[in-house]
Amino acid sequence: MTEHLLKILVVGDGNVGKSSFVHRYVNGHFNQTYKMTVGVEFSVKMLQWSDKEKVRLQLWDIAGQERFISMTRIYYKGAMGCVVMFDVTSSSSFRSCRHWKQDLDNKAMLPNGESIPCILLANKCDLPQRVVSADSIDRFSEANGFIAWMEISVKDNKNIGEAMRRLVENILSVQ
Ligand code: GDP
Repeated sequence: MTEHLLKILVVGDGNVGKSSFVHRYVNGHFNQTYKMTVGVEFSVKMLQWSDKEKVRLQLWDIAGQERFISMTRIYYKGAMGCVVMFDVTSSSSFRSCRHWKQDLDNKAMLPNGESIPCILLANKCDLPQRVVSADSIDRFSEANGFIAWMEISVKDNKNIGEAMRRLVENILSVQ
């Protein structure tokens, strides 16, 4: 049995659903009142990937943006993959994704010098007041070197496992 240890970062503006996403993925439920954590912490999820492979995922969620600056180095160190998340009802959170992706590419790379595989997640697709179109996400994802983008709803448990599987597949394929 091989065990892969993968450190995955979860970045994006405040309030887009990062903590809820990690919580849902790791613990399997949506908690409306889940409190925003302060600082950086990680959650662990084990996956039976194949007959012979297990994956231990470390999900690093940044929370408390104001503390981010001083945490940057330790936060990025050893990362193998990244989730960049925005909220489809907030165009500013979508615009920020360029910054998050560039920041990642400036500060971290894989041991082989390539950029860290990054998936773009459009959260809260359960909400009717959507302001970011699929077309613009598509173009943005393509132009900024994301491996893929997906619509998700942490609330409705839509595409959560699928998104993470997609990212892990990509990470393991380049290893
Ligand atoms: P973070 O600051 O990015 O970690 O965001 P949180 O996980 O704290 O979520 C911010 C708010 O969005 C909370 O009130 C969540 O309940 C809510 N939220 C998260 N995901 C969804 C979703 O998929 N749909 C809806 N409608 N609300 C969500």
